[in-house]
Amino acid sequence: MYFLSDIEQKQLLYQLLPTAREVGVSKELRGWNWHQPPLKPYFDNVRLPMYQVSSKYCPTNRDVYLRNVEKKYGAPNARMALGKLFHGIVSDCLQSFRQRQNITFDAWWQKIRWQEISEKPENTIDKCRQVWDFVQKMCDAQLAERSCSQPYSTEMDLISTAVPFLVEHKLSGELLGLSDILSVDCFDYLRTIMFDLKVTSFKENWHRLYSLGYALVFESIHEVPVDICCTVYLNVENGKISVQKDLFFANDELRQWWLEERDRKLEIVAERRDPGKPECSQCKEYCQYYNICYG
Ligand code: SF4
Repeated sequence: MYFLSDIEQKQLLYQLLPTAREVGVSKELRGWNWHQPPLKPYFDNVRLPMYQVSSKYCPTNRDVYLRNVEKKYGAPNARMALGKLFHGIVSDCLQSFRQRQNITFDAWWQKIRWQEISEKPENTIDKCRQVWDFVQKMCDAQLAERSCSQPYSTEMDLISTAVPFLVEHKLSGELLGLSDILSVDCFDYLRTIMFDLKVTSFKENWHRLYSLGYALVFESIHEVPVDICCTVYLNVENGKISVQKDLFFANDELRQWWLEERDRKLEIVAERRDPGKPECSQCKEYCQYYNICYG
């Protein structure tokens, strides 16, 4: 899922990395400058999860107000259920491979807590099995290629370089006004690329804010520059898997955009201010707060 194709690898080496080296990132927008403006959060007593800072499903950010001030929980739906299942498959399959546990799909499937998933197992099992098999095959192929080119490496060394991913890596976003238990979809520690997985084929510009935000948090903790981010779009339709990637340079403009979103949302919660609803036509019926706003 997070392996780069030959074309993406070329894009990284000949386009994104040279641009990142030439243009650079302003020093005040590096995560390790969390203690001074513009990174320093204005409000010490409010913290938000990454998905609320980076999401722009709601044009006025009323979802942030409802969740954090009114303490209202939106209704889960089938889209969210599939998103949760696919995230679990990708991370558990990669972890199982890296740890040589060799868990099978059927064993994994038996452990799902269906009371937390708002979808019937029979509606999702085929798609889920397909994604599991796909991730497994990709890992096997990478390891096989690595093994024949480095025959004297240990198995641990081969896996660490063939599948160089920290998956569901836990980070604290406290320094930037975020939750202290953030979970990163994937970080490629050899190429220092921050990945975010989206279960959809519909792309939005603001999807970039998720991996960008994690890059800032990573910089704030480890003081290592993360210049490249990537949104991975995973979708299964008519029995076919589609994986598309949006690989980009985490430049100043995107960093500033993320900071504006963070500041606006922290302010809504700190001041307990209802930002109101947008034009009704701008609200999607699959918004999990739809029944609360229009019920
Ligand atoms: S229904 Fe509309 S106003 Fe309410 S949270 Fe969703 S997008 Fe925002």
